[in-house]
Amino acid sequence: MSHASPPPDSDGPQRFPVVVVGAGPAGLTVGNILRAASVGCLVLEAETREVIERRPRAGVIEEWAVRGLEKRGLARNLLDRAELHTACEFRFEGERYRFPYGELTGSHHFVYPQPLLVTDLVREYADVRGGEIRFGVRDVALHDLDSDQPSVSYACPETGERRLVHCDFVAGCDGARGATRAALPPERVRIARHDYGIGWLALLAEAPPSADCVLFGCHARGFAGQMPRSPELTRYYLQCPPGDDPDNWPHERVWSELRQRLGAAGAPPPTEGRLIEKRVLDMHDYVVEPMVHGRLHLAGDAAHLVAPIAAKGMNLALHDAFLLGDALVARLTTGDDSGLGGYAEACLRRVWDYQEFSQWLSEVYHGTAAGDPFRAGTALARLRRLFTSPTAAAAFAEQYLGTAARY
Ligand code: FAD
Repeated sequence: MSHASPPPDSDGPQRFPVVVVGAGPAGLTVGNILRAASVGCLVLEAETREVIERRPRAGVIEEWAVRGLEKRGLARNLLDRAELHTACEFRFEGERYRFPYGELTGSHHFVYPQPLLVTDLVREYADVRGGEIRFGVRDVALHDLDSDQPSVSYACPETGERRLVHCDFVAGCDGARGATRAALPPERVRIARHDYGIGWLALLAEAPPSADCVLFGCHARGFAGQMPRSPELTRYYLQCPPGDDPDNWPHERVWSELRQRLGAAGAPPPTEGRLIEKRVLDMHDYVVEPMVHGRLHLAGDAAHLVAPIAAKGMNLALHDAFLLGDALVARLTTGDDSGLGGYAEACLRRVWDYQEFSQWLSEVYHGTAAGDPFRAGTALARLRRLFTSPTAAAAFAEQYLGTAARY
């Protein structure tokens, strides 16, 4: 059992107990947990450090995930700087309905932009805990995963030469478009997919939010959402056809649709600002089973994608990373295999629960615009039930916050 420090950088084959592919929230959290236990680890990342520290994406983090980061010494900046959200607001049939989930549950969301979290995690891993990381690597390939001597190779960004790294375990944390999932033998993999048949135009505006909480506009023209990111930055979503071209959405059209779809009696219109991100996301989910093949363990979006309907993806990535990091430490420091043995099952219980909630919520968001009066009627019934039935409200709050006692 080896958890010694790795040899210094060299052109020959190297050896690390764990190679982590991908420096997103999942990979960097696994790396930090390993380094805190003095387990040697190499993170391989396709992009530069500047790119991963700036890539805008998630912002809503559930409280249990923040406590998990805090327990591992990874939440100092987050706890200082994140905004706490205790309510969201639904807008439908021209009215606004505030849903005070904080009052109902005593729990809240943290809003902390993903680039800030990634910046904190990479700094802690590489600069504080002395973890090895290579940026800009190309053509990562995994070898001999079925054996107890797996390895990972990659093309060096400076020279293009291939480098080989021997290891005990590989953590596949390279997101939805990574390389590690492809290393699972196709005959043993089941990829369960769900396509919503809709797109979301994801926008980032240099403008303050027009309300202090997340807004969901369920409108016959299509869904619109507002997610505050900071006092100067707001994320907006507009439902659009899948595969739509962002160029079909000039500034005027975006703000006109946002005003209409988020319009409600007494509600101020969205504050306009320069749009610094504008891209179309085709809304789909997938779950890869098994998440484990030999010495490869997948984590985060590499294993399961959940459309950003309920803001769950990064939370699931962190959940996987906590379990995988702790399990690898137990295996490599004491020989205890139980965490790795139960890893996939423990991840997938929460994954499927969140997938189901996203599917349910999707119908609430999009049913009114489906062009089908029956779906519109049932979507509005779901919405009204949240504000008339305390039991339905409590169930929604629990799922929205991810606070169920057991998954
Ligand atoms: P990633 O963050 O994708 O990281 C994977 C890393 O691997 C990347 O750095 C990538 O460059 C690298 N990589 C890829 N291929 C290779 C390769 N071949 N070799 C080496 N490295 C590679 N989630 C929430 O919980 N809350 C939200 O509010 C939320 N909002 C979202 C909004 C948008 C617009 C989007 C797109 C997503 C949102 N999500 C949200 C989802 C969240 O961003 C993802 O679930 C999260 O980033 C997953 O983390 P990860 O570490 O698994 O993967």
